Amino acid sequence: MSGILFIGLGNMGSGMAANLVKAGHTVYGCDLVSDLVAAHVSGGGEGVDKLSEFLAGDIDVVITMLPAGKHVADVYTGPDGLPSSIKPGTIFIDCSTIDVDTARAIGAGARERGFPFVDAPVSGGTVAAEAGTLTFMAGGEKEDFDKARPYLEVMGKNVIHAGALGNGQVAKVCNNLLLGISMIGTCEAFNLAERLGLDAQTFFDISSTASGQCWSMTSYCPAPGPVPASPANRDYQPGFSAAMMLKDLRLAHGIAERADASIPLGSHAEQLYAMMEAAAAEDLDFSGVMKLINGELG
Ligand code: NAD
Repeated sequence: MSGILFIGLGNMGSGMAANLVKAGHTVYGCDLVSDLVAAHVSGGGEGVDKLSEFLAGDIDVVITMLPAGKHVADVYTGPDGLPSSIKPGTIFIDCSTIDVDTARAIGAGARERGFPFVDAPVSGGTVAAEAGTLTFMAGGEKEDFDKARPYLEVMGKNVIHAGALGNGQVAKVCNNLLLGISMIGTCEAFNLAERLGLDAQTFFDISSTASGQCWSMTSYCPAPGPVPASPANRDYQPGFSAAMMLKDLRLAHGIAERADASIPLGSHAEQLYAMMEAAAAEDLDFSGVMKLINGELG
């Protein structure tokens, strides 16, 4: 069993760290919010008060699950970040969704200092984080991926090597670009069908077995009714918030510009989720973009 330093015990990290504890690892949990550290300790983990002063003698792995690139950079390279007592060879795994350039720069810097590094963002929300059924898409050298894999397998059911450093973030952002677009298309189709007198369940029964079928419809239907577990049936409480989707579409925008790749629908999707933010609806689930499409958000 290993010593793991887990940094970022928020909505996702708390469940992921708990699964590592359940698997028998000694998991030192760290967060800026002391209540989250206390909850981790009451679940059988160890608590870290101040990261930069932590004595990391028995740490084999560092896992981060943080909001954005600047937080990840603070932890891996900032003065109040990882303590100097972390020994070279310790495996670094960043599971946050961040921009590709930051992931590549942090990863390359870590490797130069003798630390294996993978960027391993996740697909699946808080329910999958708690259940240990996340999908991990990991970028990094194969030898680093092989070292990280056993820990990722505790927290997820699918662990995929996406290739070079940063490619985990590329996979994650491109997947969510597609998801953001397909969700809006699904909302448009259900809204138009209902306006023309075709109810949601009947349209679902037809389209889910026809060529319009997609995950946004069959697993996460944005119209209330056809998929009982979808957020549409609880007034769009997340789930995966519109704010998170907007963050990922903004990341897609940035990498598309640098790659000189055209993403016209992605840009339009970004504008629509930004309109949700402007309407103070960004904390709704991203499928709540239905409220924008059907006019409920004005
Ligand atoms: P969150 O805001 O709930 O948790 C992040 C935690 O990091 C917070 O508790 C915060 O206090 C802590 N933190 C920030 N800076 C810190 C520092 N320097 N040291 C210690 N702790 C620090 O976010 P989340 O929903 O858990 O998401 C985490 C990441 O996972 C994000 O990058 C997000 O895009 C991605 N993600 C989230 C979901 C989801 O459904 N929530 C799904 C897939 C991916």
